[in-house]
Amino acid sequence: MKIGCHVSIAGKIWQCFERAESVGAEVFQIFTQNQRQWKSVQYAGEDIEQFHQLRNQSIYRDVPIVSHASYLINLCAEDPEKLQRSRQAFVDELKRCDALGIDYLVIHPGSHGGKGEEWGIAKVAETLNWALSTYQPTVRILLETTAGQGNNLGYRFEQLQAMIQKTGQKEKVAVCVDTCHIFAAGYGLENEQAVDETLRIFDDILGLELLKVWHFNDSQKEKGSRRDRHAPIGEGLIGLDAFAYLMSHPKFKDHPAILEIPGGDQKFKENIALLKSVRK
Ligand SMILES: [Zn+2]
Ligand SMILES: [Zn+2]
Repeated sequence: MKIGCHVSIAGKIWQCFERAESVGAEVFQIFTQNQRQWKSVQYAGEDIEQFHQLRNQSIYRDVPIVSHASYLINLCAEDPEKLQRSRQAFVDELKRCDALGIDYLVIHPGSHGGKGEEWGIAKVAETLNWALSTYQPTVRILLETTAGQGNNLGYRFEQLQAMIQKTGQKEKVAVCVDTCHIFAAGYGLENEQAVDETLRIFDDILGLELLKVWHFNDSQKEKGSRRDRHAPIGEGLIGLDAFAYLMSHPKFKDHPAILEIPGGDQKFKENIALLKSVRK
């Protein structure tokens, strides 16, 4: 596994490369714009050029760069106006990623707002199909596993499988697994055996080849709590063993593992160093 973290784009978007390197990240994830703002940002040609140039000169030239979509986007919003807004913002995300040469766009599947899971799953697939018929992206869309808080979809591997199945262009959609989220959703990760069992379930339902990116977060809340509270690695209820095991897992040799833990850059630095030290 290649270990890194979420990196800020404050200032200029291309500053992410120096920030990532300063905490020892081998890979990283960014928002391509303020994640809590609807208005779509379009980068000037010179910023895009600078981004490509800095990447080519950096240690990130040949590793995948991950982006996380805005939290405002809900691919299965029940309100038609909100859905339309979400769809437009999602296509804008795809276009921004392509302009920057980003490899993976991670997005939470969405909240069905009380309309039911089946309805939500169909709506997510409908939105993905709409987006892919509007714009053919190069960036690969990754649906992220969730903790299943409230009406959030994506807390069962079966739900992600159904969404991808219903989406016509399967080669465009894959999965990002967040360790904190799947643990909170009830999948075991507390020791090597539990990790193996969870990977087996994932493989049975989705196929491990669809697992492209990991989010590495320990969990403050217990297994099956359906509550999403990230903890630094080794400081939560998952514990260091699972992460150490995954770091050296032969199936994920070059996969990005992205930390999204509290504690700022200092904690990122410490956790990245810790995970490098346990990698065999
Ligand atoms: Zn995550
Ligand atoms: Zn989370």
